[in-house]
Amino acid sequence: MASSKTISNVWEFFPLNDKTNLKKKSRVILNKKVGKIPPAPPPSSIAISKSMKSNKSKNTKPEILLRKALWSSGLRGYRLNWKNIDGSPDIAFPGRKIAVFVHGCFWHSCPHCDKPLPKKNRGFWRAKFTRNKERDQITAKALKEKDWRVVIAWECQIKNNLSDVLNLITKCHVKAK
Ligand SMILES: [Zn+2]
Repeated sequence: MASSKTISNVWEFFPLNDKTNLKKKSRVILNKKVGKIPPAPPPSSIAISKSMKSNKSKNTKPEILLRKALWSSGLRGYRLNWKNIDGSPDIAFPGRKIAVFVHGCFWHSCPHCDKPLPKKNRGFWRAKFTRNKERDQITAKALKEKDWRVVIAWECQIKNNLSDVLNLITKCHVKAK
């Protein structure tokens, strides 16, 4: 049983005194490291093909599960894919400034699953995942600067520890009162 400590909150990655221009810095590093991302290769396995197909941005299975859980525990007043703030959070509580991102483990390099890179087309996947991760970090930083709390709800946690995810969002919700 994982405790709520295992839930990763992106603001942990950004100490308050972090004054670096992450966007600029990360772009420079990224260009040095990965260069231009080549076009997507055809899926090399059934698993990857499945992950690629399930890469839709709205109403994913874990998102629906989490929304149902929020609703039944009385956490309402959220907006879906709220466009008025950085990153259009999957679930946003504008009144309390809480942004919840439901992250697919494959696409966002889940630290809990720690999946290895697909065996084929490694260069492409490495670049792709690096970009996704950087985009997530830039979004989190922008939100944090606007005094929003950011919660990352990983696909695997929603599947295996939904109550932990729910507790974390509840805590933010209470604090933001
Ligand atoms: Zn995961």
